[in-house]
Amino acid sequence: METYSYFADGKWLEPTSGEYFDSENPYSGEAWAQIPRCNEKDVDIAVRAAFRAYHEGPWGRMSPSERGVMVRRLGDAVASHADRLAEIETCDNGKRRVDIRPGLDSWLIDSFYYYAGMADKLEGSVIPTGRSEILNYTRHEPFGVVAAITAWNSPLLIAIWKLAPALAAGNTIVLKPSEYASASTLELMKAFEDADLPTGVINTVTGFGTEAGEPLVTHELVRKISFTGSVEGGARVAGLGAKTVKSVTMELGGKSPQLVFDDARLADTVHGVCGGIFPPAGQSCIAGSRLLLQAGIYDAFVEKLLEVAARAKLGDPNAADTSIGPIANKTHFERVLAHIERARKSGATLACGGNAVNPEGATGWFIEPTIFTDVTPDMPLARDEIFGPVLAVMRFDNDNEALEIANDSNFGLAAGIWTEDHRRALDLANRLEAGTVYINNYFDACTQSPVGGYKQSGYGRENGWEGMRDFLQTKSVWLSTARKIQAPF
Ligand code: NDP
Repeated sequence: METYSYFADGKWLEPTSGEYFDSENPYSGEAWAQIPRCNEKDVDIAVRAAFRAYHEGPWGRMSPSERGVMVRRLGDAVASHADRLAEIETCDNGKRRVDIRPGLDSWLIDSFYYYAGMADKLEGSVIPTGRSEILNYTRHEPFGVVAAITAWNSPLLIAIWKLAPALAAGNTIVLKPSEYASASTLELMKAFEDADLPTGVINTVTGFGTEAGEPLVTHELVRKISFTGSVEGGARVAGLGAKTVKSVTMELGGKSPQLVFDDARLADTVHGVCGGIFPPAGQSCIAGSRLLLQAGIYDAFVEKLLEVAARAKLGDPNAADTSIGPIANKTHFERVLAHIERARKSGATLACGGNAVNPEGATGWFIEPTIFTDVTPDMPLARDEIFGPVLAVMRFDNDNEALEIANDSNFGLAAGIWTEDHRRALDLANRLEAGTVYINNYFDACTQSPVGGYKQSGYGRENGWEGMRDFLQTKSVWLSTARKIQAPF
């Protein structure tokens, strides 16, 4: 059994509580690592280290170009430890290796390089005030200490999306991963030792939301919170941050619709829809979990969908031929099964799946790809985020009805449109209430393009220039060249 320490002030530390908790491998259901149970004392050590690094250490005095070089070195460190990082994340949360490794190799390492290059291009503006004796200009400045709270489904991805822009902008950071999947973030800290950043710039505390997360987001020295998680968790954290008026970015849940029109290419669209939910077992914030089918294509589409879903192979997330891995932790596994049980009683038709299963060799937490048809927009199945391999299929007749059903949700993270009519697609893309809209594809992302939510799916953006802007505040400087200041009275 691996026993981890937490990382703060440039050191690997034992939790002051002296306590650890188990991390379980979702493929086997067995404990494989011990994670430090940090509390407010450990959080205070980490935040004060980050504060010192920002205000007293070399980090705050570095030129933007020097900072860029450092951030680039973090990308190099991830590149040379990518195998180990992917192995640990798969072991910890059951995410398929084929979903982690290519992402690390391409856009996660790229994220450091992209923001490293941006570090010395954060130009302010000279404002045309119209006053000849005034020079008014703006500067983009970091906040100071950032608290970054991450979810269990993709800890590395979520952490890197925050780390790279936050650091390139000049902040220091304290990360708090989910209690259900902390190991890959701690491994990331080990990898970062190669980059030799000044002490205290990056810190990670582990533990429970209430014991480690709350002291972090309420700490007086933290000036910015970047949170990824559920709507409930986000609302609580935003409320706590509001007490000391901290700047907050919220990346929250979704119940994203996929709109399929009669003229869509059937086979490609079925693949796109299945790929948009099942491979990560539905445990993706942008999973396309509501499928809206136009009446003319409904029967043929469902038939093909069931055929493709039946081909999915559940199994070891390390194996290249596994289509769907396990549910990441036991608590969530039971939650997904409870959603399915409620859906069975709701009047919707269970077209396939719905059961917990154990593929050969596994003793963990697997759920079959599950499809409910005849779903109506008022059912909890169509409204609640399940975050599992459960697809709710609904019927519509025309564009306006599709749009009405799609927008009838508290969430607004992503949406998919499948049609050969590009005029219709662009019109709907403008009218859908979602932070990301895919047309004839689903699930793509890259470092350069912003992601984030509308409505209760959150606010603020990650990736792209907007992802950098969220870690900066703007100062307006007024300089007068007037020889005389007017007497006020
Ligand atoms: P939670 O909201 O339960 O937890 C998220 C993080 O917040 C965890 O680290 C958790 O710690 C911590 N936390 C919980 N309560 C508090 C608190 N009171 N104060 C401080 N920190 C706290 O979400 P999940 O981990 O269950 O993640 C799944 C959710 O994340 C889904 O809704 C999914 O859609 C969303 N998500 C959104 C993404 C996006 O980019 N929009 C990307 C990925 C996921 P602990 O686990 O120890 O309780």
